[in-house]
Amino acid sequence: MKSRILYTKPSITELEVRYATDAAANGWGERCYEYIDRFERAFCEHLGAKHAIATSSCTGALHMGLAALGVGPSDEVIMADTNWIASAAPIVQLGAKPVFVDILPDSWCISPAAAEAAITLRTKAILAVHLYGNLCDMDALLAIGQRHGIPVIEDAAEAIGSQYQGRRAGSMGAFGCFSFHGTKTLTTGEGGMFVTKDAALYERVLTLSNHGRARGQTKQFWPNVVGYKYKMSNLQAAIGCGQVERIEALIARKREIMQAYRQQLAGLPGVQLNPEPPGTVIGAWMPTVVFDGASGVKREALRQAFADENVDARVFFHPLSSLPMFEDCPVNRHAWAIPGRAINLPSYHDMTVEEIARVAAVVQRLAKA
Ligand SMILES: *Cc1c(COP(=O)(O)O)cnc(C)c1O
Repeated sequence: MKSRILYTKPSITELEVRYATDAAANGWGERCYEYIDRFERAFCEHLGAKHAIATSSCTGALHMGLAALGVGPSDEVIMADTNWIASAAPIVQLGAKPVFVDILPDSWCISPAAAEAAITLRTKAILAVHLYGNLCDMDALLAIGQRHGIPVIEDAAEAIGSQYQGRRAGSMGAFGCFSFHGTKTLTTGEGGMFVTKDAALYERVLTLSNHGRARGQTKQFWPNVVGYKYKMSNLQAAIGCGQVERIEALIARKREIMQAYRQQLAGLPGVQLNPEPPGTVIGAWMPTVVFDGASGVKREALRQAFADENVDARVFFHPLSSLPMFEDCPVNRHAWAIPGRAINLPSYHDMTVEEIARVAAVVQRLAKA
């Protein structure tokens, strides 16, 4: 049996270990927020954002951001049908309804035209998720938001390192959120970040994030509203500080692996990889192959071929509307068709040239079959 190729795993160096050890030994009492503050500042600087709040997850950051925008019962939030449920769950938990629209066939991200067509009087936000690090058409989405007076928000969990006309993913909308789960480009094990340039929104989320205790409230144990508990620990933030110092290298390696796949799969008929249109740079979190409908290559054959090679390739997200808790929306043609002939390829930092070639060979074999 050939050695297992995992689809992701973190890159942890002596630097992260040193910071985490220091946090474990010394990061208590008066120093219990030091790494958190430092991580938030460093992440803001990387992103070109004004305000950041470290959280226990991206889901938590999104939940608080939506709550701070006033999303509640009977409201609607428009998002792409192609997504992980983490982007939809907080909408449901706030009593609102996620409205699933189709994706664009090339970027696999939300179709701006479909988003605009889905706007109703109840629409409270449009959620742009930069799928697999590919970029949403932010100019179109922001223009639609402006035209209708609806905030556009960004789930950039998969888009560390992605840039749209010089602006980093997560820094363009009313707010952005990130994940530092162990599978993501930058990791703290579990963790996330809320970012915004809107000072008022920042204050609202800061209050919500602290069990509803407003900054400046002098009375002890005195929440002003019912809030949330989605904080990051100082220990996790210490690992984050190490990771953010290495962020350019982490992104560069993702892009290198993507580039190697591009070269090795170039010219194969009916095979599409993550696009990188002019004016964009992708962080290449998840190299993904989509076969043409005409190729006849199907998900099950893909899954089996990778399993035979002991490669941990993952299936493309099922349309959320096909899950049991939502109503089917097969009119979302691309969202329903693409997962049937697509696969995510492994891309972890320490992946070797031989491993990349082994993965690419599976795709080559299928494409030529
Ligand atoms: C990973 C991911 C999330 C969830 O992140 P958590 O930190 O696990 O909550 C949300 N949205 C997208 C797009 C993701 O990829």
